[in-house]
Amino acid sequence: MNSPTATPEWEYAPAPERFDPGIKDRYRLFIGGRFVASRGRKTFETINPATEAVLSRCDEANSEDVDAAVAAARAAFRKWSRTKPKERAKYLYRIARRIQERSRELAVLETMDGGKPIRESRDVDIPLVAQHFFHHAGWCDKLQYAFPGATDPRPIGVCAQVIPWNFPLLMLAWKIAPALACGNTVVLKPAETTPLTALRFAEICEECELPAGVVNILTGAGETGRHLVEHPDVDKVAFTGSTAVGKRIAASSAGTGKRLTLELGGKSPNIIFADASIDQAIEGIVQGIWFNQGHVCCAGSRLFVQESVLSEVIAKLERRLRTLRVGDPLDKNTDVGAINSGPQLATIQQYLTEGTAEGATMHQPSTQSLPDKGFWCQPCFLSDVQPNHVIAREEIFGPVLAVMSFRTPEEAISRANDTRFGLAAGVWTDKGSKIFEVASRLQAGIVWLNTYNRFDATSPFGGVKESGFGREGGLHGLRGYLSL
Ligand code: NAD
Repeated sequence: MNSPTATPEWEYAPAPERFDPGIKDRYRLFIGGRFVASRGRKTFETINPATEAVLSRCDEANSEDVDAAVAAARAAFRKWSRTKPKERAKYLYRIARRIQERSRELAVLETMDGGKPIRESRDVDIPLVAQHFFHHAGWCDKLQYAFPGATDPRPIGVCAQVIPWNFPLLMLAWKIAPALACGNTVVLKPAETTPLTALRFAEICEECELPAGVVNILTGAGETGRHLVEHPDVDKVAFTGSTAVGKRIAASSAGTGKRLTLELGGKSPNIIFADASIDQAIEGIVQGIWFNQGHVCCAGSRLFVQESVLSEVIAKLERRLRTLRVGDPLDKNTDVGAINSGPQLATIQQYLTEGTAEGATMHQPSTQSLPDKGFWCQPCFLSDVQPNHVIAREEIFGPVLAVMSFRTPEEAISRANDTRFGLAAGVWTDKGSKIFEVASRLQAGIVWLNTYNRFDATSPFGGVKESGFGREGGLHGLRGYLSL
């Protein structure tokens, strides 16, 4: 996001310079180290959500393709699981370096396929992707020291990995890097609206001469994902996506003996105490909810403000919203890009209608014009929200913030925890003792203190309650890929 005072209101203008990331007309499935056509011959389009232009066609994997990919991963597992750890590390380091070398192209591709601002894909997503591969490359030959007492940590086997569309390549890195470091092989399915960086990653695996079948990429929609996670020869399922689909996967995996980790939805509280630095907290709110158009599982989508500073926070938020530049995601000055898809935009609009119908007050202060084509939602927030309102309870997954107030720390904690989710939380206060007291009582997998939405490969990430179970990243994330 830009600095709060940097930019006045403006008219939308397209960016002058364009970089061609070399998108092909057609992409096939990556199975056993080769790009092959789907047995079912079905394809689907992937579009640029900022222009609605078709970017490419991808093959839609059916159950036979899933069989072939799982068989390739099984065959590769025999050798990969016995490959010397320092050899595995070489491949991961090679992949990490190649991601850095091709980072410009990957960032542009991510932005074109998904709609996120290039500044975010360039400065956040792709550097973190490389960091995840570097980090996990370092673990390959240290696994026996990672878990004292476990003398012989072993890989689990073939991993089925299904990811969403909000951080496509980063979610892939979170899944593939630890799996490979621990000696597993994978079949990964990217989301149907953002398949292109995963397919580019398959090309990187080829370039790095990763042994055939260690990584397999299947494109397709929910049905492809279902075939994959239900495949009987899969040993481990790692899913990131909605709570509704996560519950279905938990049900279908029950009793199969498959290992399972679920990273699901959230409705995370961001709590501002009156003693906080309010200007700093405003930036944290902006970062918490309008980063990546609010398409962030851990978005700080419920804001709790101590009553005495509520009107100040609302006024400052309105002012800050007017400075956010919405528009062409490829323009490096853009703060808020396109909504990922037409259906997601319709979902967000439905929540906005419901929110105001329930009595909340809408604040959408920007008068900036938007591009004619594409899927757009001006960032906004709603005040006068009650805890029972739909917009206070359900994940919207868009640039929409629900603002509520509280009087005492006790009330803040109980209202923050009054949700079925438990992914993340933020606390803003200048008092150290309050930080520790509140943070220790919040039901969330991750709690940010005087900051928000900070990610690092060394930090475990994951939820409690209906936000899922298992951790990704750091030492904790390795557990999900090892038999200890
Ligand atoms: P989604 O659950 O609809 O889809 C996620 C993925 O699952 C896609 O690849 C989809 O094709 C696939 N899928 C759909 N139905 C399936 C089925 N029956 N079996 C197997 N796979 C299936 O979610 P989405 O709309 O793509 O993503 C948004 C959701 O993801 C939000 O709820 C968000 O909070 C969550 N998310 C969570 C995290 C986290 O780390 N906790 C990270 C990013 C996104």
